[in-house]
Amino acid sequence: MATAISGPRLLLRQLRETMAEPLASQDRLDKIINLIAVNMQADVCSFYVLRDDGALELFATYGLKPESVHLTTLRLGEGLVGLIAAQAEPLRLEDAPSHPAFAYRPETGEDPFRAFLGVPVLRAGQTLGVLVVQNRDHRVYGEDETEALLTTATILAEMIATSEFDALIKPGQDIDLRRPRTFTGVGFTDGIALGQVVLHDPRVVVVNFIAEDTAEETRRLEAALATMRLSIDDMLSHGDMVSGTEHRDILETYRMFANDRGWVDRLEEAIANGLTAEAAVERVQNDTRARMLRSTDPYIRDRLHDFDDLANRLLRVLTGDGTTSSTRELPENAVLVARNMGPAELLEYDRTRLRAIVLEEGGATAHVAIVARSLGMVAVGQAENIVSIAENGDDIIVDGPTGTVYLRPTPELQQTYVDKVRLSAKRRAHYLELKDKPSITKDGVAITLLHNSGLVADLPMLADTGAEGVGLFRTELQFMIASKLPRVGEQIALYREAIRLSEGRPIVFRLLDIGGDKVIPYLRAAPEENPAMGFRSLRLALDRPGLLRTQIRALLTAADGGPMKILVPMVTETWEFVEAKRVVKLELERLIRSGQTPPSTLEIGAMIEVPSLLFELDHVLPEADFVSIGSNDLIMFLNAADRANTRVSKAYDPIALPRLRALRHIVDMAKRYGVPITMCGELAGRTIEALALMAIGMTRLSMSPPAIGPIKEMVLGLELKPIQAAVAAALGEGQSGVGIRDLLLDWAEQQGLAI
Ligand code: PEP
Ligand code: MG
Repeated sequence: MATAISGPRLLLRQLRETMAEPLASQDRLDKIINLIAVNMQADVCSFYVLRDDGALELFATYGLKPESVHLTTLRLGEGLVGLIAAQAEPLRLEDAPSHPAFAYRPETGEDPFRAFLGVPVLRAGQTLGVLVVQNRDHRVYGEDETEALLTTATILAEMIATSEFDALIKPGQDIDLRRPRTFTGVGFTDGIALGQVVLHDPRVVVVNFIAEDTAEETRRLEAALATMRLSIDDMLSHGDMVSGTEHRDILETYRMFANDRGWVDRLEEAIANGLTAEAAVERVQNDTRARMLRSTDPYIRDRLHDFDDLANRLLRVLTGDGTTSSTRELPENAVLVARNMGPAELLEYDRTRLRAIVLEEGGATAHVAIVARSLGMVAVGQAENIVSIAENGDDIIVDGPTGTVYLRPTPELQQTYVDKVRLSAKRRAHYLELKDKPSITKDGVAITLLHNSGLVADLPMLADTGAEGVGLFRTELQFMIASKLPRVGEQIALYREAIRLSEGRPIVFRLLDIGGDKVIPYLRAAPEENPAMGFRSLRLALDRPGLLRTQIRALLTAADGGPMKILVPMVTETWEFVEAKRVVKLELERLIRSGQTPPSTLEIGAMIEVPSLLFELDHVLPEADFVSIGSNDLIMFLNAADRANTRVSKAYDPIALPRLRALRHIVDMAKRYGVPITMCGELAGRTIEALALMAIGMTRLSMSPPAIGPIKEMVLGLELKPIQAAVAAALGEGQSGVGIRDLLLDWAEQQGLAI
């Protein structure tokens, strides 16, 4: 004999049947609300939907006056319903009218009902509506009933999200879920992109919410949990995992959560109430999200990400859906939305379809931002919470210069941006016209404009910008996107291709700058407290001469008898640079011995990006054929403020007195020693900062390719010498230097420069 089912499971079964019936939207919803009321022995059951104007509209009721449906509304925070929506938490009351928040709506005839239970209708932690049951008598709703109502609310949330109730929405209004949203982040690049959202880590879409066989769903959950725990254990025991690293810490947190009895109990309870295993994961995650999102404790909010990841992992095991978006077909104008990602992950996407990336984290000098820039993509970071609010396929506008992201923009806003894009296309066409003009200020100072690059793919852009060459080729990017260490042959092929594509323009190849946030997955790194100041870059290279020699060999060979420029990163003391030069010399001798043609000219330069080197420029400059300032690192170390953490780094203006004095000192010393100097950090690509650099005598600027046009336009309209004098005065002894940026902005305005 089949066991009779009752309570929430019976209700969910009835709901499933109702959902399959051929009914009009309002009739179906009314039937659902009646079923809930009957099942919970309630005198009233009401369902409110949150609209895009912030009002909660009564969509259906059993027990209140039917004429109040689609008429009665409450604002967020108003009345008990508004309170539940605002707090995203259930509310149980014995005597609702005596609650201070109770708001009486005469048209509903609500007054005789005392016992009250209301729950938020949640999806991805966002409130979509409120579901309420009420009884005439004093009655205390129990934990089980709250749980059952929350389970039912999960189904209603899904129905809202899948447009089931769209026919019930009044013209000119919409549900809150589709409300336009604006995110104020930090722009990493210029440019504007209009497109469709592609979630980097897409939420698994749960299609089947109501269980047919609860025992089977419990078994599926257990099997999936076991598989997930095994895979986490497996990753943890993997030989490459080093204790104390961030990745390992995250996995250990996952393991702790995955074995957390409270979490598993709640999942099992949701299944016992009639949900499928997938729906149970979603339901429990919803509550967790809603609770954690309201927390102001940054630690808790960070853990929320871990919990989200874990829930997504479990859903993937349950649905067998193991893909991230990089393997899927992208829409024509894809805008990638992610919490964060590494440059290698970004490069897995089809770049021809990718217009922009939007991250919840990241800083402007993070390497993913650098790669995005070099690929001509628009990028914005610090768009808080966008991952949980955006849906695949949503319209999105990314405004790089202001760092603003508009999700589901209104048609008017879209039109404004279409016009802006047209205008910027015009501007691009204008920059294209400038490309063959020599880059000389109005008062005759020649400014050399160069690209920062790192991928062969971005070299053809040289022809469009008219830049004179590549001032910084970040060779580590190729290593970062490879799955294993590129062999010498592969390196030679890559550098040859870069030289070929640059069509005779010089390229400065920087030796591998690994470490910090430039993680190379297949190179093991010991755990470090401060990786940016750790065993990285030149320190690592000198310690592992095999890697260094292979790269130098590849570079010297790839020159094929032509000129070669090699740049040594992260020089902290002069002896390190001398040592690097010695290795280059050894490889050069080896090349000659083996009968190959050596480069026609070989120049070796040092990067100035560690403050200590500023105090022995008189040692390093005579050793160097050229030098290059890495402002990203130099300014990070000068300020003791992480370049990737905008919260701290944006507090210190890079062209305010202390930094500009440091930069001027380097420029003056390089001039004194007659050593060519280039600025290759991100500063050089920003107009007002570039003006500051020219004002202190820097004439070689290397930047991301899209910055060349605007900087060149500025150079062409600039009278440089007067501002050089003004800045020199402002940097003089005894000056507070507060107004350097303002000084430059005023000058730009006087000169009519586009900044
Ligand atoms: C810098 O530090 O400014 C620089 C150019 O190098 P990277 O950004 O690659 O560290
Ligand atoms: Mg650097």
